[in-house]
Amino acid sequence: MKKLKIIVLAKQVPDTRNVGKNAMKADGTVNRSILPAIFNPEDLNALEQALRIKDKYENTEVNILTMGPPRAAEIIREGIYRGADKSFLLTDRKFAGSDTLATSYAISQAIKKIENYDIIIAGRQAIDGDTAQVGPQIAEKLNIPQVTYCEEIIGISENKIKIKRRLERGIEVVLSDMPILITVHSSAPECRFRNAKFFMKFKHSRTKTELKRENETLKKLNKEREYLNIQEWNVQDVNADTTFLGLDGSPTKVKKIENVIMTSKKETKILDESDESINFLMKNLINNHKLDNF
Ligand SMILES: Cc1cc2nc3c(=O)[nH]c(=O)nc-3n(C[C@H](O)[C@H](O)[C@H](O)COP(=O)(O)OP(=O)(O)OC[C@H]3O[C@@H](n4cnc5c(N)ncnc54)[C@H](O)[C@@H]3O)c2cc1C
Repeated sequence: MKKLKIIVLAKQVPDTRNVGKNAMKADGTVNRSILPAIFNPEDLNALEQALRIKDKYENTEVNILTMGPPRAAEIIREGIYRGADKSFLLTDRKFAGSDTLATSYAISQAIKKIENYDIIIAGRQAIDGDTAQVGPQIAEKLNIPQVTYCEEIIGISENKIKIKRRLERGIEVVLSDMPILITVHSSAPECRFRNAKFFMKFKHSRTKTELKRENETLKKLNKEREYLNIQEWNVQDVNADTTFLGLDGSPTKVKKIENVIMTSKKETKILDESDESINFLMKNLINNHKLDNF
């Protein structure tokens, strides 16, 4: 089989899964400074799918691409320690404030520059936005087929790929042409751990911005060993039109974010399976006009 080139899309996100009451600022934006920055969980599922293809088909190259601030290089290294071969960080102040339309435009420009890809694998959604729009929008911009909610990539032969999708009430198996964009669901297998050998080999990988703050020994090492360089691209590098980027290129404005935390016991009630509990629930739903009393 011919060489396969995969691009995994990974986003660094604030860990919004265990937010406390200080997680939001008074202006309604996410208080990123108090939340740890993590690899978006479904993007790890996506990376695992890519690495499984690499395990199965010789000659597969896994690229990892992220758009974000310079510190997003942290998740790129995480991807390399688990088995990704090449890495790209798209970073520029002009990308800041991008909604899904602007994000998908920027990422699709970077993908065009990477070129000759067969499979693009993204997570279904990012936990800080939860829109699930970026993957499908990129497929539209690249004019390639898309398969969402993937749980397993079953196999590849010649130019076809077979994918199992997780639906609300079952599964579906689809066959598609490549190149293709796939978004991966959280029910897909978890990502493997870091590989100790890869960690030792790549622990000094840096972007050019990171290198500026490093000592001379590390700078020299990165110059001598090209495989340690994480490619860093800005707006010009990917030939992007700034009118489609950042706040100017983003028709969506998030007006307010509300953080709902149940604090007092009065607001919650734990119900069991007894008739008494079910009657209590029904009465409350009817009284609150959530259900019609018929
Ligand atoms: C509370 C809240 C609500 C929002 N609502 C909207 C809205 O309604 N409409 C809107 O347009 N924007 C919205 N945004 C902004 C949106 O979250 C950002 O534009 C974000 O950069 C991309 O969208 P997402 O996180 O929803 O990605 P999703 O579409 O959920 O991400 C899907 C997948 O795309 C890939 N991906 C996404 N972003 C990147 C990246 N930067 N680098 C690499 N891969 C990536 C990942 O694989 C990810 O798993 C909202 C933001 C917040 C905080």
